[in-house]
Amino acid sequence: MENKKLFGTSGIRGKIQDEITAELALNVGKALATYLNGKGNVVVGYDTRTTNEMLENAVCAGLLESGASVLKLKMVPTPLVGYAVAKLGADAGIMITASHNPSEYNGIKIWNKNGMAYTPSQEEKIEEIYYSKEFINVSWDNIGSIRFIEDIKEDYIKELLAIVDIEPGLKVVVDAGSGAGSELSPIIFRRAGCEVITLNSQVDGFFPGRNPEPNEKNLKDLMKVVKATGSDIGVAHDGDADRMIAVDEKGRISDFDKLLAIVSREFGGKIISTVDAGMCLDDALKSVGGEVIRTKVGDVSVAEAILKEKANFGGEPSGTWLHPDFCMCPDGILSGLRITEIVSKKGPLSKLLDDIPDYHNARETINCSDEDKLTVMENIENLLTESFEDIANVNTIDGLRLTFDNGSWVLVRPSGTGGHVRLTLEATSQEHMEFIKDTCVKIIESLLNK
Ligand code: MG
Repeated sequence: MENKKLFGTSGIRGKIQDEITAELALNVGKALATYLNGKGNVVVGYDTRTTNEMLENAVCAGLLESGASVLKLKMVPTPLVGYAVAKLGADAGIMITASHNPSEYNGIKIWNKNGMAYTPSQEEKIEEIYYSKEFINVSWDNIGSIRFIEDIKEDYIKELLAIVDIEPGLKVVVDAGSGAGSELSPIIFRRAGCEVITLNSQVDGFFPGRNPEPNEKNLKDLMKVVKATGSDIGVAHDGDADRMIAVDEKGRISDFDKLLAIVSREFGGKIISTVDAGMCLDDALKSVGGEVIRTKVGDVSVAEAILKEKANFGGEPSGTWLHPDFCMCPDGILSGLRITEIVSKKGPLSKLLDDIPDYHNARETINCSDEDKLTVMENIENLLTESFEDIANVNTIDGLRLTFDNGSWVLVRPSGTGGHVRLTLEATSQEHMEFIKDTCVKIIESLLNK
């Protein structure tokens, strides 16, 4: 058995022909069908990448050979795969996408019956079967079949529109980045009563207009177009439209934490976010009598925590938000509809954002060897908790996160890939921020010099 990991933080991902090949897709298909005991139905969809058909054909061949049947959606946003698995009562879903990565990347992500992504323990089981190559090979008369699913998009649109209530007359610019949201997202906003201007919403796997990652650098055109057209909001998606970031009517990209806070506050109650989410989220929930529960970085961790805590809503600051009142799959289109609904009733977006206070924040990267990284993480909790007298909460679910009595916080996390430790912090004053940062850096450096 090869000592390699197949799954990363968000499914299987890599460069085509380096890590991701037709053979890999074939064997992932066989591994999943084997995991499903050589039977069942698997929904398969893909984003707009040029290498999708190669991977889709291979993964489907693998599923069929090991006894599963396929429900093909073709090009759809990731949330539609999650929705379809649940709606059609299928046994699993596969989305072929590399999310926000550039064109030369692709990947495979697997989904559960309830539309939620496979958990790390489920992925481990698939990985075990994949590397053991002990696939179920069914007899010729038990090979699975393929059915094309044509009519599910209309159900998805209708159910989405039933849970949001956008006041008519808003002007929205939708920038789908030529990804999987290109077709559906503008249609849905139009049917929600908005006047829609599209940008980068022609399907193109080379992503000619911008990189699929929805960040400030890649959204310059959207920021200009929103302002120039006098629009109320700009909505941008990543390559598979499970993420959303909004631009306000002044053409500014939203602060990711503030955007999450504005939507979370509407839900109230228990909200799930990750250890790296900022304190404006706590402020927002406190103002409505709710609470933020922080979990590991990654949308699967957020989904697991939503179910465990019976939370109303959850999201990562990256713009991957989960709406358990609709489906357990992150949905960038619904996220866009939700912020637009709030803007239509309480906007403008610039005011909603500016009403949330800015705190003093800092990020530090401290280089060290992989071995030192372990030393730091083993000792940091004791040393830091001894160094501060005003610690209100210690969270060790993913790195070490300390929250102070006044709400200020610091997160120490080892990097998953490179040789460094990351320090992220936010404080109510510049002085407090400097004090926390200096104390942490000093302690980490003392551990490195040992
Ligand atoms: Mg994505």
